[in-house]
Amino acid sequence: MSEDYNIYEVVLQQLDNAAARLELDPRIKELLAEPMRTLKVSIPVRMDNGQIHVFKGLRCQHNDALGPTKGGIRFHPRVDEDEVKALAAWMTFKCSLVGIPYGGAKGGVECNPKELSQGELERLNRGFIQAIAPLIGPNKDIPAPDVYTNEQVMSWFMDEFSKIKGVNTPGLVTGKPLVIGGSFGRHSATARGIMYTVREAAKILDLDLHSASVVIQGFGNAGSYSAKFLHELGCKIIAANDSSGGVYNPEGINPCRLKKYKEENGNVRGYPGTEPISNYELLTMDCDILVPAALENQITGDIAPEIKATLIAEAANGPTTPEADEILHDMGVFIIPDILANAGGVTVSYFEWVQNLYNYYWTKDEVDSKLEKIMVSAFNRVYELYRKENVNIRVAAYMVSIDRITAAMKARGWVECEAREFSKII
Ligand code: GLU
Repeated sequence: MSEDYNIYEVVLQQLDNAAARLELDPRIKELLAEPMRTLKVSIPVRMDNGQIHVFKGLRCQHNDALGPTKGGIRFHPRVDEDEVKALAAWMTFKCSLVGIPYGGAKGGVECNPKELSQGELERLNRGFIQAIAPLIGPNKDIPAPDVYTNEQVMSWFMDEFSKIKGVNTPGLVTGKPLVIGGSFGRHSATARGIMYTVREAAKILDLDLHSASVVIQGFGNAGSYSAKFLHELGCKIIAANDSSGGVYNPEGINPCRLKKYKEENGNVRGYPGTEPISNYELLTMDCDILVPAALENQITGDIAPEIKATLIAEAANGPTTPEADEILHDMGVFIIPDILANAGGVTVSYFEWVQNLYNYYWTKDEVDSKLEKIMVSAFNRVYELYRKENVNIRVAAYMVSIDRITAAMKARGWVECEAREFSKII
C-alpha cells in the first residue's frame, strides 16, 4: 500500500482513460478535471480542558450539472485538499452512473474523532456546519456520512443548520436516524449495493456463492455489513481486518459475532478462534472475493500481481491505483469499480432526501427493492459496454457516467451543442 500516491492524480488518470475512449470534447474534460469550488474553513473549538483548538475543514463541490451536489463528510487525521477533491469527483461520477439527479461533493475535517470527547465532537460538528452553512442546503449541496462520521454526526449537522435557518430542514443531510427523517435501509445501503453487484458478477463468472470464500479489508460500516450480506448469500468469510490488525480462519468467521466483538473491544484483533494476519497477507490471500472496504490506494502495482481473488468488489472509494487496475485486468480479475460497487449508499441517500422533501416515508421493502433495481440496471449497463468496447471495467463505468454528465452540461449550455447532438450511450 502506498501513502504517497496523490489520489487526485488517480482521478485525472481515470478521466483521461475514459475521455480517450469517448473522444470526449476537451472542454468537457477541462470542466471535469477541476472542481467548481472548494471552501476551506477554520473551526475554533473549546476543548474540555478549557483551551481553544482550531480545526481545519474543507467542503469541495465538484460538478452540479446533474443536480445539487451530494457527498459525505469524513473525519480523519489525514484529510487534505487533494483527497477531498478526488472524493468529490468520484461522487459526481458515481451519482451519474446510477442515474440519480445529483452532482458530486465531499467534505472533511482534519481530526482524530477517537481522541475527542462527545462534547468536543459535538462542538466541532456544530462549528463545521456554521462555517460551511452558506454553501450547503437541500437544493444546493447535501452532506452524508463517510469515514468516521455516523448518524449522530448527521443529527448534529441537521439540528445546527435548522437553527441557523430557523426552519426544520431534514433534507439538508442524509444518513440521519429514522426518528428525525432517516430512511429505512440507509445504514446498511452501501453493503447491500455491494451484495447486489457481487451477486450479478457471480452469475457472469459462474462463481457459486454457496462455496465462495470472501476476504474483507476494513471492518467499519461498509465492510462489516458486506460480510454479513455475503454470509447470508452463503459465502464463507475467511478473513477480515481493521486498523488494529487482521483475523483469519479458513473454516469461516461469523460476521455478526465478529461485529459484536469489535463493538465490545474496539477492534477485530484477537477475535477468538482466529489467527492474526497482516494487511499484506489479507490482500494476497487465496480467496474468491476480495472486498476492499477501508481507504484509498490499498491495491497498488506492487501488490496487484500477488492478488489471488477472481472478483474484487470495491466498497471503499479509490482502493485500486490505475497501475494495479491494468495488472488485474490483464490477469483476468473481475473488478466491480467503486463508483458502481459502493453506489448503494448514495442511492439510498437519494431515497432519504426524496422522502424528506415529500415528508412521506417508505417501508424497508420499498427501499430495498428500489435499490436493487438501480444497482442491477447500472451493473448491466457497465457490463454491456465493457463487453462491447473491450475496455477494462472501470473505463466502461466512467464512459457510461461521463456520457450522462456530458449530456447535462450540453443541455445547460456549458459547452456548445452542435446541431441536435445526442449522446452515444444514453
Ligand atoms: N460517503 C458515501 C459515498 O462515498 C455516501 C455519500 C452520500 O450518501 O451522499 O458514497
